[in-house]
Amino acid sequence: MELAEAVVVGGGVVGASILYHLAAAGCPGVLIERGSLAGGSTSASAGGFRGQFSDELNIRIAVESIGRFARFAAEFDTEIDFRQNGYLFLLREAEVPAFRAEVALQNSLGVPSRLIDLDEALRIVPGVSPAGLAAATWCPIDGQVTPEAVVQGYVKAARRLGARTVTGKAAHEILVQHGRVTGVRTDRGTIGASLVFCAAGVWSPELLATAGVAMPVTPQRRYVYQVAGRGPLPPRPPLTADFATGLYFHGEGTGLLIGGAWPSVEEIAPVALARLPFLADLGISGGWSGLYEMSPDHNAVVGGCAQPAGLFYATGFSGHGFQQAPVVGEYLADLALGRTPPLDLSAFSVDRFTGAEATPRPEANVV
Ligand SMILES: Cc1cc2nc3c(=O)[nH]c(=O)nc-3n(C[C@H](O)[C@H](O)[C@H](O)COP(=O)(O)OP(=O)(O)OC[C@H]3O[C@@H](n4cnc5c(N)ncnc54)[C@H](O)[C@@H]3O)c2cc1C
Repeated sequence: MELAEAVVVGGGVVGASILYHLAAAGCPGVLIERGSLAGGSTSASAGGFRGQFSDELNIRIAVESIGRFARFAAEFDTEIDFRQNGYLFLLREAEVPAFRAEVALQNSLGVPSRLIDLDEALRIVPGVSPAGLAAATWCPIDGQVTPEAVVQGYVKAARRLGARTVTGKAAHEILVQHGRVTGVRTDRGTIGASLVFCAAGVWSPELLATAGVAMPVTPQRRYVYQVAGRGPLPPRPPLTADFATGLYFHGEGTGLLIGGAWPSVEEIAPVALARLPFLADLGISGGWSGLYEMSPDHNAVVGGCAQPAGLFYATGFSGHGFQQAPVVGEYLADLALGRTPPLDLSAFSVDRFTGAEATPRPEANVV
């Protein structure tokens, strides 16, 4: 039987970050991925990061993550195309009071977001129809990076520190004896380890169930469409979200990507054309879809199990897992190795959904 100091299941951005942070703390583990690295939700992601959350902990994570993405190229010797084009939330009248309160919270935590009037919003995104809108929130430090490059950067650095990655290898069962994990049974043998990390994205519940852990996370498919050209929008448009409909768009190359929950061009077209009338002159040239890992309160589910001991999990990110991976990976590595993490994420434990003292903590801003 193969032995490892730790096994990380899942080669998306979360698994890669865990692997790196374990190795950096002196515990070089093995990561197993049944497909290819970054082949799950990570590759479908827009790579967006933002301070514009409603939950205080998410705002703190964002401040930390944005700093890490800014330093990533230098620290990991990997170009990730870090760009701070901002995030713009387009709001109806009824949404303004909640966003005003969120902006105050974000500002108190160091995020320079602002509630702006429609004239200013339309100067940032000319060509957007103001129909039905009352105001917007704008944050210039929000932005995007390339998700696959972040995975490569973490994996490269982890390997230099002695960690290994194996692709084309699936975990079938988390092995448990006397209340502790002892390893993972895969489609190609067993790996013995006293620390196991489940970073299997939307597929985490089925793997965790093999160790008797219930994970209330469900998949939700999201769709992205490519538009050739960008009409009157500026060369570097912000990631702009029409909050009421869930339609969002951002620049990609010389064109645009538009996204949301609409499974076909016919279904997204009326919503997109109403907000971006110039799309009538531009064609949709393709697209893809990917899965959000939805938790009941739209916040991450991250922590270590009391039973079985030695098992850690990170899933349920509800559309914002890419940007939380740097902080979550370090948190779980520190938790497993008995170190003090820079940010305490214990409020994201799965225990918040169970028992008489269940305390879900909702995040309102899902894009
Ligand atoms: C369209 C879209 C846009 C998004 N945009 C953003 C964004 O702008 N910003 C943001 O923060 N988030 C965004 N997200 C969410 C983000 O992509 C995810 O939350 C994040 O990528 C989750 O990373 P992960 O590593 O946990 O999961 P994944 O990337 O899904 O990785 C899990 C991996 O585990 C592997 N696996 C599963 N089961 C097993 C097994 N039994 N054995 C071995 N391997 C296994 C899978 O093959 C997969 O590669 C977006 C998501 C989508 C779909």
